[in-house]
Amino acid sequence: MTARMRIVALVLVLACLEMISFQARAGAQGAGGARSSGPVITGKVYAFEKIADGVYYSTSSSLMATGGNHTIIVGDRDVFLVDAGATPAAGRALLEDIKLITDKPVQWVVNTHFHWDHTNANSIFGPEVQIIGHEYVRHAIADLDIIHREPFKTALANMPIQVDALKKQIADEKDPARRATLEKQLAAKQADWEEFKMLKPTPPTMTYTSKMTMFQGQREIQLLFLGRGHTQGDTIVYLPKERIVCSGDMMETQPAYMGDGMFDEWIKTLDALKELDFVTDLPGHGVPFHDKSLITAYQSYLKDFMSQVTELRKQGLSPEETAQKVDMSSHKGDFPQIQGPGAEIRGVRRMYEWMDERPH
Ligand SMILES: [Zn+2]
Repeated sequence: MTARMRIVALVLVLACLEMISFQARAGAQGAGGARSSGPVITGKVYAFEKIADGVYYSTSSSLMATGGNHTIIVGDRDVFLVDAGATPAAGRALLEDIKLITDKPVQWVVNTHFHWDHTNANSIFGPEVQIIGHEYVRHAIADLDIIHREPFKTALANMPIQVDALKKQIADEKDPARRATLEKQLAAKQADWEEFKMLKPTPPTMTYTSKMTMFQGQREIQLLFLGRGHTQGDTIVYLPKERIVCSGDMMETQPAYMGDGMFDEWIKTLDALKELDFVTDLPGHGVPFHDKSLITAYQSYLKDFMSQVTELRKQGLSPEETAQKVDMSSHKGDFPQIQGPGAEIRGVRRMYEWMDERPH
């Protein structure tokens, strides 16, 4: 395989992954009982599903990079928003579309964790808006040079590769309709790339350590740090009266990015999540789900990933070799996004690091 062919293959894989995540957002049914529950209001970029009075879940099938899904909690006076968005343009589009469900201003934003697809739009909010995150989120964004580290590093590096691949496809495409579609995709990708290049990492303005409770009139909103896992500072947003949680990327309806995983602790933190009294989980990616057995299924997935990587490493394999050999297909019933053998290299590298960090 030439380097160019490898790049084209990589772009195709990335395109497939984007497609899978879109299909999941569009309503793929997993064993966890994911289902659509309320009326949907569709804006220019985002669609809002009503989950409870004043609680909406937003997804996007736009060509624009929009990152994670959001929960929008409308109170008597203002709006509490879960996650900021993947780019300033995505954040602005979200604020514009939110006007379809309320005329109240967004006053509070929580970053469920520090990754770019949840925090890059922090910079669009003025000083009147409080951005809240676990103290680790502020540390990560303020101190860790997140533009040059994963997962943003690869997302940014993929931009020119994807732009080139689309240009090549357009040059080769004879069908005018398909060519027009590709040209729209190219324009959207180029706009995303410009946004990515101008990003200004903006940390939360308010932090907490283990629990913070807010009241929006009669509504109670708890921000909970239940332990390390997907990163070292993930927040679970919990509405005890409505029995709703927003689990961010700690628990999605698809396998999460593991490049910052704290694996053993992740499984324990998911136990703590299951102990909360809730009937609806609105995750950072995927679709709402109602059945806690999906969390148990994800714990089994993590355990299996850890044991396979541990075993392959014992055999002397490099992270790259291990990433090709790991086979999570037996979890496909719970996570239909799994396409076959192989694992994301950054998760495998992180697991090698994690093994080195663990006390013996
Ligand atoms: Zn995410």
